[in-house]
Amino acid sequence: MKLIRFGEPGRERPGLQLPDGSRVDASAFGSDYDEAFFGGDGLDRLAAWAARDAARASRVDPSTRLGPPIGRPSKIVCVGLNYRDHAAESGMDIPKEPVVFFKATSSLAGPNDNLIIPRGSTKVDWEVELAVVIRGRASYVTVEQAARHVAGYVLHNDYSERSFQLERGGQWVKGKSADTFAPLGPFLATPDEVGDAARLEMWLTVNGHMRQRSSTANMIFNVIELISYISGFMTLLPGDVISTGTPAGVGLGMKPSPLYLKAGDEVALGIDGLGESRQRVVPFA
Ligand code: ZN
Repeated sequence: MKLIRFGEPGRERPGLQLPDGSRVDASAFGSDYDEAFFGGDGLDRLAAWAARDAARASRVDPSTRLGPPIGRPSKIVCVGLNYRDHAAESGMDIPKEPVVFFKATSSLAGPNDNLIIPRGSTKVDWEVELAVVIRGRASYVTVEQAARHVAGYVLHNDYSERSFQLERGGQWVKGKSADTFAPLGPFLATPDEVGDAARLEMWLTVNGHMRQRSSTANMIFNVIELISYISGFMTLLPGDVISTGTPAGVGLGMKPSPLYLKAGDEVALGIDGLGESRQRVVPFA
């Protein structure tokens, strides 16, 4: 299944994207895609609803805004330096253990919403990433148990303000958490839709120029290892997001000098099987 949410920001309704690409309203299913949904048998009940009712559910107009495909989670956990090529371009050693940081959940946005340059910002950067949404409560799960905690996969752009992140002291969270810095979607794909999550091509363009092109095969720690690892430090609640890191090609790594986003720029990105998203960069108003 491909889960979507659509409508005005903060008032999204649940829906599904059908195999033919059309989108239907799943409001009649009776639940948002939130912690209760992912913590119980929501995905199974939704599959049963879809088999019975999706074909005659009302269609969502293609021009309707898409929101993030999940309700606001308790956490967005991010993994840093998780691609060999990105660690190399950053001049960093390959980490011995996953580098983990947070992103504020208020940074969540729809996949095609504008990216707003935060107040005082000079170094807004892009990061195409595979994100995983958690099913059930995951606490001290083993690698063998971790796969059952994958609700699905979703395309994420882990926008980053490099001066806030790296030049203002303290934790990376300051550079990762501005409003609109976590466009998620277009849809959450259940694992059966995705196949091998360790072999997905991914790409990102800025104003039509290819900036990132890689594969999840270049990850240092894979999805299953990350779920197990992170669950040893915190309980992952149903619906939580783990964003698994970005490959080479971010603005910070560009030679001879870094390149950052400015108002009017257009960022587009995609991952095999997870669709595409597009953000227009606008100034803080
Ligand atoms: Zn990232």
